[in-house]
Amino acid sequence: MKPLEHLIFGMVFALILFVIFPQISLIGFFLIVASTVLIDVDHYIYYAYTKKDWSLKNAYNWFIKNGKKYHKLSENQKKDIYFGICFLHGIEAIIILFAFSFYFTFFLFIITGFIFHQFLDFIDLTSRNLSRYKLISLTYSLFYTKNKKLIEDYN
Ligand SMILES: [Zn+2]
Repeated sequence: MKPLEHLIFGMVFALILFVIFPQISLIGFFLIVASTVLIDVDHYIYYAYTKKDWSLKNAYNWFIKNGKKYHKLSENQKKDIYFGICFLHGIEAIIILFAFSFYFTFFLFIITGFIFHQFLDFIDLTSRNLSRYKLISLTYSLFYTKNKKLIEDYN
């Protein structure tokens, strides 16, 4: 799912929450929308870190290009590859944010945005028959990808 789609769905979701629970205030509304979109910054950081290239445009093109490459593969080939590690997706990030929320309650809004984002990712990945390893946990992702090839290196 693209950032713009996450933004639109995130705004609708946060608006519904704001109408039902006005006490979340505008700060809550904006934090939910922002975290729904910004969680995907982990894709960019993964790209920048592994490729040593901080160009946002190159990162975006890299994911588009490899997405197309992926769709040309057979179902069997798809089982051998992965797209990267997304450290903000999965249960660990939520546990850490939850711990922070004992000190600063606004972290609960960020958790709400993260969970909603991954709910959308789940529907999106399932409908496109893509692997959902990143939604489970970072630890699981590291095990899952261990004996697989990064899509880019797959010939
Ligand atoms: Zn995502």
